[in-house]
Amino acid sequence: MNLVGLTRPQMRDALIAAGTPEKQAKMRVNQVWQWIYQWGVRDFAEMTNLAKPYRAMLAEHFIISIPEVVSKQVSSDGTRKYLVRIAGGHEVEVVYIPEEDRGTLCISSQVGCTLTCSFCHTGTQKLVRNLTASEIVGQIMMARDDLGEWPERGAPKDETRLLSNIVLMGMGEPLYNFDNVRDAMKIAMDPEGISLSRRRITLSTSGVVPEIARTAQEIGCQLAISFHATTDETRNLLVPINKRWNIEELCNALATYPKASNSERITFEYVMLHGVNDTDDDARRLIKLIKDHNIPAKINLIPFNEWPGAPYKRSSNNRIRAFADIVYKAGFASPIRTPRGEDIMAACGQLKSATERARKSRKQIEAETGLG
Ligand code: SAH
Ligand code: SF4
Repeated sequence: MNLVGLTRPQMRDALIAAGTPEKQAKMRVNQVWQWIYQWGVRDFAEMTNLAKPYRAMLAEHFIISIPEVVSKQVSSDGTRKYLVRIAGGHEVEVVYIPEEDRGTLCISSQVGCTLTCSFCHTGTQKLVRNLTASEIVGQIMMARDDLGEWPERGAPKDETRLLSNIVLMGMGEPLYNFDNVRDAMKIAMDPEGISLSRRRITLSTSGVVPEIARTAQEIGCQLAISFHATTDETRNLLVPINKRWNIEELCNALATYPKASNSERITFEYVMLHGVNDTDDDARRLIKLIKDHNIPAKINLIPFNEWPGAPYKRSSNNRIRAFADIVYKAGFASPIRTPRGEDIMAACGQLKSATERARKSRKQIEAETGLG
């Protein structure tokens, strides 16, 4: 049994089942937990504060295993894209984006995606399966391995981290894999281990409305919403989940999030598609929606990243700037996201593992999402 990805209560049960006396279980979980998540140890023999026979018992019953890196590409801008292999031979992509004052890891939650947003490369790939909590937290551990970022044993906690932020913006819709995403993020936030603050974790959703309140209660991370359109007509085309939960229902759910989760502002992600959603009127409608619903927001404009066969073009720089200007003058932060790692197809929406080229059929999409 793999210990990576077990919550504390699950690890406790597992250690007891393997013969740990109940009275000791809490302490043993603490010790093993720290070895795995604080020091990055993968070999029970190195867990020197445990008695030798206990280490041998652990080694007999358990493994400490993370996804295997199949390939790594480094962009001219320093962005790293990893292809990792998970059980069943499936592959997902993980992207590390270094910036001046931080380093962000973009992790995946599904192989392929449940949904079929028309501008997204991942959306053309069948949903193969949900990732387990172990595979989700394993992506973070894999990146720390590659960055050489596990602390020296006994060294004081290092505050400047190469991997300081996590965004759930890789492949998949995290809120359609809620329990595993929650468990993995709880592990990432645990102060005795990877210890990333919930303010440094951002979950991006296309708008699975019923799960938004649960995200606030059970995860409490920052929320980003793939908004992308200001009328239901256009959003139905771009983000088909809008047919299930429309803009009005979505905005109502978003309005309650910051209070419920104690987080600050919601990030509105808005992909700039030439001639589709990028007019001045769109910018004004966007502002009006946010203001009418009283949503504390910042608006992240994403220049569309093209991929082979994509049915859209990126808006011109002038258009993007004019849109940003309207948003900014209305009183909202409106950063334009610089595409990172484009030369290695690592930018937003470009992820799709080469081994999983199967295209979804219309019928399949309708059956999967019930959107018909
Ligand atoms: N499924 C989640 C998270 C993954 S997508 C979601 O949809 O929010 C991460 C972000 O990249 C989303 O905002 C998504 O809309 C955006 N995106 C997808 N394809 C893109 C593309 N081709 N160019 C730019 N952004 C894209
Ligand atoms: Fe899935 Fe997000 Fe891509 Fe939509 S934008 S297809 S929800 S990964």
